[in-house]
Amino acid sequence: MAWTEHQRQLLQGMGLRVWAPGPAAASEPQQPPAAATPRALAPGLHEAAASPAALAASTARGLAAPAAPGTAVSAPPPALNPAVVSTRPELAALGWPELRDSVAACRACGLCESRTQTVFGVGHPQAHWLVVGEAPGEDEDRQGEPFVGASGQLLDRMLAALQLSRGTEGPPERSVYIANTLKCRPPRNRNPSAEELAQCEPFLVRQIELLRPRIILALGRFAVQALLRSDAPIGRLRGQVHRYQGVPLVVSYHPAYLLRSLPEKAKAWEDLCLAADVLQAGA
Ligand code: URA
Repeated sequence: MAWTEHQRQLLQGMGLRVWAPGPAAASEPQQPPAAATPRALAPGLHEAAASPAALAASTARGLAAPAAPGTAVSAPPPALNPAVVSTRPELAALGWPELRDSVAACRACGLCESRTQTVFGVGHPQAHWLVVGEAPGEDEDRQGEPFVGASGQLLDRMLAALQLSRGTEGPPERSVYIANTLKCRPPRNRNPSAEELAQCEPFLVRQIELLRPRIILALGRFAVQALLRSDAPIGRLRGQVHRYQGVPLVVSYHPAYLLRSLPEKAKAWEDLCLAADVLQAGA
C-alpha cells in the first residue's frame, strides 16, 4: 500500500516519518544506519503517534535503525540452529505438500472431532516474514486459511502498510507466511490446552524449517509460549529482538486484542517497524 499525498503531508506536519523499505532483492552492501526517527502509524491505524521506544531498544542493542531507501540487504536464508527437537521426528522428512497432508489427516488431539477442516498456513513458501498466531477461529475453520476474520483484516492492513502481503505471487522479500500454533479451531474459540499445543507444535516447527524465515513476528501469548517458551506478558517481551533457532523474533500483541484495545495499535505498529528494521539490517 502506498501512502497518499494527504497522509504524507499529515505525517510530515506531525514530524513523523513513514517507514520505507528498500528495493526487493537488493544485493548491494549495507549502508550505515540512518538516524533514529519516530515512525508514523500505518494508514488505517489512526490513533496517537507511535513512540520511538522500539527503535531506541533496537539501536541500544546494536541493531540498525532503518537504512535509507535503496539499501535493503537480502542475505541467504539462515541455517537454523537445531536446538528445537521435534517430538515427531518423522515430520523432518516432509516437504510442504506432504506436511499439509499430514496436518489434514491429524487426529492427535480432540480438536479433530469438532473442526470443519484444518488450517495449515498461507503464503509464499520462501517468504522472508513469518507471522505466527494462535489458533483458527470460526471464519478460519470455515475457509481453511489463517487470519481471514476481523483480526486478519487488521493484520493484512498493517502488513500492507509495509508493502507486505500473504500473497504467493510477489517477491519473497515482500511476502509473509502466516501460520498458527494450532491448526484446528478450539470449540467456541476457547484457549488452547497445553496438550493441544504440544501435539500441534511439531507441525509449526517443520513449517519453520521449510520456510527458513528471516524474521518471525509472534502474535499473542500462545505464539510466544510456543516459540520462546516464555510466560512473560507481551508488554514485557515486546520492543526487543528475541531469537528462535537463531532467527530474529519480535513479539507483539494479537490483532484480536488490538481490536479491543485501540491504544495498543501504536505499539503494534512499532513492533512491526522493529521487525522491518531488523530484517533490513540483516541482524
Ligand atoms: N486468530 C489467530 O490467532 N489465528 C487465526 O488464524 C485467526 C484468529
